[in-house]
Amino acid sequence: MKHNILEICYLIGSITFIVGLKMMGNAKTARKGNLVGAVGMTIAILGTIFLHDKEISWLIYALIFGAIALGTVIGWVTAKKVQMTKMPELVSMFNGMGGACAALISIIEYNHMQHMMHNPIVNAGIVLTDSMDKLYGILTAIIAGLIIGTVSFSGSIIAYLKLNGSMAKPIRLPMYNIINTIVMVGVLVFGAYFVITGGNMMLLYLLFLAAIVYGVLFTIPIGGADMPVVISLLNSFTGLAAAFGGFLYDNKVMLTGGILVGSAGTLLTLIMCKAMNRPLSNVIFGAFGGGGATADAGSEAKGAIKDVGVTDLAILMNYSKKVVIVPGYGLAVAQAQHIIHELELLLEERGVEVKYAIHPVAGRMPGHMNVLLAESNVSYDKLVEMDDINPEFEQTDVVLVVGANDVVNPAAKSDPSSPIYGMPILEVDKAKNVIVNKRSMSAGYAGIDNLLFYDPKCSMFFGDAKKALTELVAEIKTL
Ligand code: NDP
Repeated sequence: MKHNILEICYLIGSITFIVGLKMMGNAKTARKGNLVGAVGMTIAILGTIFLHDKEISWLIYALIFGAIALGTVIGWVTAKKVQMTKMPELVSMFNGMGGACAALISIIEYNHMQHMMHNPIVNAGIVLTDSMDKLYGILTAIIAGLIIGTVSFSGSIIAYLKLNGSMAKPIRLPMYNIINTIVMVGVLVFGAYFVITGGNMMLLYLLFLAAIVYGVLFTIPIGGADMPVVISLLNSFTGLAAAFGGFLYDNKVMLTGGILVGSAGTLLTLIMCKAMNRPLSNVIFGAFGGGGATADAGSEAKGAIKDVGVTDLAILMNYSKKVVIVPGYGLAVAQAQHIIHELELLLEERGVEVKYAIHPVAGRMPGHMNVLLAESNVSYDKLVEMDDINPEFEQTDVVLVVGANDVVNPAAKSDPSSPIYGMPILEVDKAKNVIVNKRSMSAGYAGIDNLLFYDPKCSMFFGDAKKALTELVAEIKTL
């Protein structure tokens, strides 16, 4: 009876994960989707704790709920306090914790298995009831979970350090691709040897260490600008490691959850690679984005830059037919999403058509601009994806770039020596006028200069986005 109720809890958990994920595909239902998944997860966790076959002592209950309470408080407070721009760091840290959990499950379960094998009474049971094939299967799940979870853990920690600027520059050992491949093959061969021989605790810890080293080596050469792809890839690793845990415990909800995370992470990785027009192998081995978060813009003069005053800009925008706004990371930093929405409404009142051009990697996380603009109630159908808006720039009177840089850098198309060469960009230079709002001539995330700023059609509107746009709105209101 208990077992049947537990299976129903798992079924509810699995269904809510799938429904929640589907709801997250749309900005309007994303929040509820998250909640639906969380409710399913709570049901599955409580079911596992209270409907377990074995008797559990009160001390164990206290430990379980103590750990849950501690994790909940830390997770809740961190997520509440984190700024939107720091979200990728938080995601990589949480993902690292997921990987570590999967690795710990493997270590504990191997220990457990060894204990059973060395206990003559239980041992007799294992040999009698479990075929060698099954034991190999269990050991394979343990080792796969350990390797994948550990790589995800150490890789995510490095990604976290890169994103928060502590490890801004990629570290590339000489012949790092060859070294990394050798270490990867070494870890896999070690894992296979472990499964075949049955291993021991000492070897397990060595394998754990080797996987940590591989996770670090795998991530350190990759440039900061490629971190979103790496985080998403590591996320899929964690999902896979959790799925192996589900296999180990014959736990359907863990298996479903792991597979969903694994496949969603893989799909997101491939979508981002497609958005940058680069194969995944190029992201991992190509050493792109070497500039990192704090690299210099480069001081080489590319021509003269023009700046525009608020009055001239207000007149230009007020009498335009079509304006396209390009939001970027600086919009999020300045928290200018509300004032930009006010600008949009004001221009529309004056008969100007306004759209937002959304680059897939604008900001610091996938979907960053969509979430930011949804916060200020910008209508979702005003957000136009890159491929759809690019053909429209030629008929656009004014493009207003707010706090974006790399995603509008024409070097991605014209300069084969540029680290962002090949990344599809918003082709704003095709518009009749381009206005760029940022605080200075500093570089964006990839750390490179932007030739757009020197284009004769382009004028700089310097200042913090929130302050500058507030002045612009006030000026337009006077017209
Ligand atoms: P960029 O990082 O290229 O540029 C942002 C610009 O915003 C800077 O040049 C900065 O210039 C300006 N800025 C900063 N603060 C303000 C402010 N308060 N007011 C006005 N402007 C400000 O941003 P993009 O969105 O164009 O590109 C995103 C980059 O981040 C890409 O390289 C992408 O690969 C990378 N990335 C993307 C992730 C994602 O998933 N979306 C995750 C991690 C990285 P100044 O200092 O002069 O004001």
